[in-house]
Amino acid sequence: MPPDPNSGSPGDDAAADTPPADRRDCPAGNPGQFAAGQPLDAASAGPELAAALADAQKGFGTLSDDALAGFLGACQKIAAWTAGMLLDGIAEFATRRPDDGTPGRAVVHAAAVKKARAALAAGQPADPPGYDEFAPDELMPVLRLSKGAAARQVELAVALRYRLRATHAAMLEGRIDLMRARIIAEATADLSAADAAAVEALVLGRAGRQTYIALGMALGKAVLYVDPKGAMRRRKRAEKRARVERWRETDGTGALCGRNLPPDDTLAADQALTALALELRAAGLDGPLDYLRATALIDQITGRDSRPAAGPDGHDAGEPGTGEPGPQEPGADADEDWDNRDDWPAMDAWLLNQQDLPDPPDPPDPPDPPDPPDHQDPPDQGPGGSPGDEEPGRQDDGPGRQDGDGSGSGGGGTRPPTGPGGPSGSGGRGQKRQPPKRPGKRVAAWINLTIPLATLLKLGDGPGDAGPFGPLDPAAARDLARAAAAHPGTRWCLTVTDQRGRAVAHGCARGPQCWAGLEPRAGPGARDGPAEDSLDTSTVIARFLAGLGITLNPIATTGCAHHDAEPGYTPSRKLRHKIHARTPTCSYWGCRRPAAQCDDDHTTAWQCGGLTCECNLSPLCRRHHRMKQREGWRLEQPRPGVLVWRTPGGRTCTTTPAEYAI
Ligand SMILES: [Zn+2]
Ligand SMILES: [Zn+2]
Ligand SMILES: [Zn+2]
Repeated sequence: MPPDPNSGSPGDDAAADTPPADRRDCPAGNPGQFAAGQPLDAASAGPELAAALADAQKGFGTLSDDALAGFLGACQKIAAWTAGMLLDGIAEFATRRPDDGTPGRAVVHAAAVKKARAALAAGQPADPPGYDEFAPDELMPVLRLSKGAAARQVELAVALRYRLRATHAAMLEGRIDLMRARIIAEATADLSAADAAAVEALVLGRAGRQTYIALGMALGKAVLYVDPKGAMRRRKRAEKRARVERWRETDGTGALCGRNLPPDDTLAADQALTALALELRAAGLDGPLDYLRATALIDQITGRDSRPAAGPDGHDAGEPGTGEPGPQEPGADADEDWDNRDDWPAMDAWLLNQQDLPDPPDPPDPPDPPDPPDHQDPPDQGPGGSPGDEEPGRQDDGPGRQDGDGSGSGGGGTRPPTGPGGPSGSGGRGQKRQPPKRPGKRVAAWINLTIPLATLLKLGDGPGDAGPFGPLDPAAARDLARAAAAHPGTRWCLTVTDQRGRAVAHGCARGPQCWAGLEPRAGPGARDGPAEDSLDTSTVIARFLAGLGITLNPIATTGCAHHDAEPGYTPSRKLRHKIHARTPTCSYWGCRRPAAQCDDDHTTAWQCGGLTCECNLSPLCRRHHRMKQREGWRLEQPRPGVLVWRTPGGRTCTTTPAEYAI
């Protein structure tokens, strides 16, 4: 319950707005009743308790610490209660979207409903009848949830309604919160309805008083007790869902995580990482063990070698031979961020105690990973298609080299993947100019430089954008661009954004480009080279675009004169890029599927006279493309890039062109 931003400070007695008589009528009249043993401390969740909380929150000053603790506990009860109501509503919604859309399903669904009703009437748990596959999607804009989160919420809701009824009842009383309900539902998801209820009965009594971890352990034991044979079967099945996930952390870093791995592999890999981390430390790399393990992980996957070279002056202590900055850059910000050096021994000890390490550590392997295929599929960094679909292998002296001399910022850095030494000015970086002999970090990418028109001059100041990975800080964008420049599949585009961050123009570089001369300035403090600020705007823009071989095309925003309308059904690459720059993900609310993996949908069907034009195209992922065609859904594009969806439930939701972070 977020506090009302307008409610007063303790001295500003908001209760003055409420006649005291009203407060006395409410059981909340005496906030002291939240203290231990008092009525409100033991009260069940419900409207009266909620009213008492709202009342008490207006004036914390009158609450003792004891009563404040009671207040906190009561808030959790109310949160559990409202979550229970929310999920009940979601389950109701799911029953209104039955899975009977296709002829064969109607009969099956009717039978499932009948069976479930009979079981519930007899007080037995039941398997939930199916619901329409797009029911979660319809709830995405309502609940403000991603597709995955909405799907999980619906799944949990129907599980609580049909399988875990005691858990749901405990939520409504305020005893089991949303997280605990989810933990119980997930632990029992693969059990039969009867077994799930048996496990629920074993854990529920204590669940509300346990930590999440303790509840998870109790559930693990209960599942083994109720269905010992099934436990192994389920684990084997779960291992088939093994995968590696990647996401953006809130601090702008990246996360890479193996999920549903076989436990033995997991432990073996974990121990191997520690052994490798100790090797890195023995080789002189600084950092706590956690950091060294993460470094070793990326080393192993990419073939990078982070061991500092044994050079006497140490100037090349990054990654020998890769031409890339190491995890620790001499002369740069190497030690600045280690603010917890004193904590390392304790952190390391905790980590080392988690596992039995092989001893002694294996001798370091010679770093000899095989060369990667030159034309592997690029990661889903954004639109642009696979590298193979356009002018492969264009390695001649393209326009990218023009900037190598005379601009002052290029510093002669004309070979990929070198970063020009000028802007960074660091001797350490400047030494690492050789093309990579080993793969190292090489990613094929669609580098869509998004640049606000107003700040085109200051290329280093705005965040970059790496497609679905989200906004990157300038240094991370530069590092990604440098790594991408080493890959022949990388394509460069430039999207110019307006003050709101919306794409207003797009241009595509022809073929692959090297990184030379494209280094964003290292910021206001860039030391070397003449300040580009001293050049006039048009010169810098012209030079930059010439360097990329780019001609900019305006993107229709308010209206469309169909200048770029095309006669065929399939849009050209140029038109597709414009659409994708404007809308880099699927056009359904909350869907983050990259446009490159989407269909280019004609909002008004081509067969019905819809133009192949930026005012009638938008990316839709396969799923939401099918959803658009499902009965009850309607989609219109009243202005270029503005998509108005009408759901079967009669709501409308509008998606607009992306606002790039600027
Ligand atoms: Zn492009
Ligand atoms: Zn048009
Ligand atoms: Zn989608």
